[in-house]
Amino acid sequence: MHIFLPEEIGFCFGVRRALKLVSNELKKGNHIYTLGDLIHNPGVVENLRRRGVIPISSLSQISKGTLLIRSHGASPSLIKQERRKGLKILDATCPYVLRVQRIARYLSMKSYQVIIIGLAAHPEVKGVMANVDKGQAYVVKTPEEATEIPFASKIGVVAQTTESIDNFENIVKNLIEKGREIRVFNTICKVIRQRQENTKRLAKKVEAMIVVGGRNSSNTCQLVKLCEFLKVKTYFVENRDGLEIEELKHLKKVGLVGGTSTPTSAVKEIKDFLISIN
Ligand code: SF4
Repeated sequence: MHIFLPEEIGFCFGVRRALKLVSNELKKGNHIYTLGDLIHNPGVVENLRRRGVIPISSLSQISKGTLLIRSHGASPSLIKQERRKGLKILDATCPYVLRVQRIARYLSMKSYQVIIIGLAAHPEVKGVMANVDKGQAYVVKTPEEATEIPFASKIGVVAQTTESIDNFENIVKNLIEKGREIRVFNTICKVIRQRQENTKRLAKKVEAMIVVGGRNSSNTCQLVKLCEFLKVKTYFVENRDGLEIEELKHLKKVGLVGGTSTPTSAVKEIKDFLISIN
């Protein structure tokens, strides 16, 4: 079997930065709380938990200590609340996410109807929405949903950093008729764009793709969708336990990619395993 890997695998810059902050704080002997999982990868979260990084679901669960703002960012009101409680804040918001928040704030200030392309339930989107005046932004995930947006004289569009470029383009096409003036900011993170491009390229030359990452990772799910859209047999696994060994054994060319919250070691482990069954 020939296994093809893209040039870049492993954590993105934003995740590496968050993990560095965590590691420095842990060296001081402090526990760290995170509102939700630090990154969308169950294996990594479990490992961090053992080292003293504790996910919580609500601020009411803690009264003191160090709280890390994840790379997805958080709403300004939540950050205020954390400071009022006297918590020590470690801000790991990715600079690319901060950019989306800044643009959304600017558009809102200039009276544009803000539209965020992404998943309404995702913490990054909630954080961006909180930067819009009174939280009055529309969140759109599909081109069909874009047709339901009411007409406005000024529309400003941003995207979740992990959105797929194809979906972004298709939604924007449908938004064109929805306003007299439309400003579109492509805020998809360049690391994500690169991973999507690499995945497309690989998917076109192999019999099957293996996408490694957490099922709750938005950008990993986008890679899976992309492969499925290209009609290549796709396996979505978190680790080697999820592999369909009998099916894979017979393949000659396999592509192997990972999301931005998937450690290099997880991808390499699968590569080594595939080599061992051949
Ligand atoms: S995927 Fe991009 S935007 Fe998200 S944390 Fe990584 S570098 Fe930042």
